[in-house]
Amino acid sequence: MIFGVGTVDQVRAEVERLGGSRVLLLFGPQVSAAAARVREVLGELVTAEFDGAAMHTPVTVTEEALQLLRTTSADCLVAVGGGSTTGLSKALALRTDLPQVVLPTTYAGSEVTSVLGETANGRKVTRSSPAILPETVVYDVDFTRSLPLGMSVTSGINALAHAVEALYSAESDPVVDGLALDAISRIARALPALAADPSDLDARSDLLHAAWLAGTCLGSVGMGLHHKICHTLGGSFGLPHAETHTVVLPHAMAYNASGAPDAMRRIAEALGVDDAAAGVFDLITSVHGPTALRELGMAESDLAEGARLAVATPYPNPRDLTVEGIHGLLRDAWHGRRPQ
Ligand code: NAD
Repeated sequence: MIFGVGTVDQVRAEVERLGGSRVLLLFGPQVSAAAARVREVLGELVTAEFDGAAMHTPVTVTEEALQLLRTTSADCLVAVGGGSTTGLSKALALRTDLPQVVLPTTYAGSEVTSVLGETANGRKVTRSSPAILPETVVYDVDFTRSLPLGMSVTSGINALAHAVEALYSAESDPVVDGLALDAISRIARALPALAADPSDLDARSDLLHAAWLAGTCLGSVGMGLHHKICHTLGGSFGLPHAETHTVVLPHAMAYNASGAPDAMRRIAEALGVDDAAAGVFDLITSVHGPTALRELGMAESDLAEGARLAVATPYPNPRDLTVEGIHGLLRDAWHGRRPQ
């Protein structure tokens, strides 16, 4: 784990430490400047490049990249980008066991988990394996400077969601709780600072630090209702990942509040508010984040099916899950109502 400003300079040494000499460089179109910096540092080690990563890791894209990896005999993966690019890297590592060096450019936190969500035939399936966990993560705060404010907000709330659900996880433990509470207070402090000044490097550093903390929570303990709903809405209705997390989080928290009063009190304290769910909603509106599923393009007629899918397979959650209850939650999220 490497964290700081200008840490990209250490990427070549990391690749060599992992025994790599033929790099497949993965990146997305909006991070071409960051990818150019990595290319510069890696020099002749870059053997091939692939810039086609897509949200929710479609298996068809993975197969395309896998073919390039095989024809170029790449022996190391270097991924520069958000969770989608990290997801592609993980999908390739799962199939080849090649080492990965990941440079995250958002706050999704995927780089520190051994979990991969892949989409095939309209369903997102999650799996976990040691081969999926990247060997090296290089956090360079500089690489997050280009993330537009709107995406910084939604990605920051995505990180917040990992920390929130860790605190009421059936597997929660005191060490992970500490990481989660630290992440929550950093996000609550950094998002308004960034909204006031999008070039605030301390706020960017706080957010990336929080992303690492929150990603560690996600990789350490099981998540609940909120992640299940977002996974369902992303995989089956094509909704965008971080935006969906942002809209759904206050509603999932309001639903779970009566089942996890102690966790909600600690979350509220870390946020510096009286009520955790309403506090998260207010934080989002104060930094102009999205609050309604209808704004994200979800059809009202799909809410019932979304609710059915979200409770179709049982999983641990602090409060019992019913189709009617989740349908009501999704209706509130669709309209963008502030939790009471
Ligand atoms: P993303 O990677 O799709 O990025 C969103 C958009 O932001 C893209 O267009 C990208 O090019 C652009 N972008 C990224 N960084 C940028 C930067 N610094 N400057 C300008 N533009 C930038 O979105 P995401 O929210 O980071 O990741 C979502 C994906 O990650 C989903 O598929 C989700 O399932 C997965 N994910 C997985 C885990 C896990 O542990 N398996 C955890 C979190 C997210």
